[in-house]
Amino acid sequence: MGLGLVLNGEVYHGSTGGAGEFGHMVAVPGGRRCECGKRGCLEEYISFRGIIANYLEHNYKKTLPFNTPLDSSSDRAVRSEERVIHELLELALGGDELAAQAFEHSGELMGIALANLVNVLNPESIVLTGEGVFVAPAMFQSMEAVLRQNLFSQLGKNLRLLVEPLVGYESWARGAAALVLHRFFVLPAHP
Ligand SMILES: [Zn+2]
Repeated sequence: MGLGLVLNGEVYHGSTGGAGEFGHMVAVPGGRRCECGKRGCLEEYISFRGIIANYLEHNYKKTLPFNTPLDSSSDRAVRSEERVIHELLELALGGDELAAQAFEHSGELMGIALANLVNVLNPESIVLTGEGVFVAPAMFQSMEAVLRQNLFSQLGKNLRLLVEPLVGYESWARGAAALVLHRFFVLPAHP
C-alpha cells in the first residue's frame, strides 16, 4: 500500500527517495506483526490480508466460510486473498455484520491515517486507486466519516476524496513516462 505525494505539481521523493510508505504508518501500537518487522502497521489492517484478519479476529469460529482456501505460497496467496475478499464483500453486501465490520474497521483506520496526512499537508485532493480499489466503496462511509471527524479546523473544507478505478496495469508505466517527459521539457533556465 503506497502513497504518491504531489506537492506543488512535483512528485515528492523525500530526502533519500523513500517518501510515501503510507502502509507502514503505525495504526495500532503493538498491533499485528507486519512483513516489515514492525508491529501495528496500517497495511496489516487495510490490505486484503488485513481485512481478512479483521474478519477472523471477530469470528468466533476463526474460519472462513468460503469456497476459496487461503494458499500460503506468496504469489498464489495474493490471488486467493483477492478471491476471499470478493467473497467477503458479497457477504457484507448480503447483510453479514461480521463481514461488514471487517471493512468498516479498515475504513476507520484508513480515515485516521488520511486525516493525519491532511492535517500535515493540507492537500487539495486525495485519490484512492490501485489494484485493491474495488474494496474502497465498502470502506468509504466509515473512512470518510472518521477522516472528517479528525481534521483540524478548516482543512477539510475544500478537500476532494476520489476513488478512481484502476484502468489497466499500464498506469504505473504511464506515470513513469510522464516523469521523464516532464524532465525532458523543463526550461533550460530551470535545470
Ligand atoms: Zn510495516
